[in-house]
Amino acid sequence: MLQKGEAQAGSSSDVAMEREGQWATRGAYQRRWRANPENRAGERKKLSRARGMKRFRESLGDVLPAAQRVGRCAFCRHRTPKFRVQRLKPTETGFEAMELPYCGEC
Ligand SMILES: [Zn+2]
Repeated sequence: MLQKGEAQAGSSSDVAMEREGQWATRGAYQRRWRANPENRAGERKKLSRARGMKRFRESLGDVLPAAQRVGRCAFCRHRTPKFRVQRLKPTETGFEAMELPYCGEC
């Protein structure tokens, strides 16, 4: 009897966890992952390298996304684009329309 009651209590708390959303468990995982100094150092290194590459690209005057440079679909980055679609890009003052290559399949 007691075991059955415990099982029911456990299952109801599981439902509550699900209602809280997966974000709660993902957040816990992320906090645990970040608590590891090795992971944090790797993340910092990766970010600083990405920022350095961005600055380097901007210094060349090439600020187009990679997908536009190599002639691939901007969404799947795999197929050859057949036409261009307009998307809004967030800027500091609002939104700016930009055209992206699109394969039409993805
Ligand atoms: Zn595509």
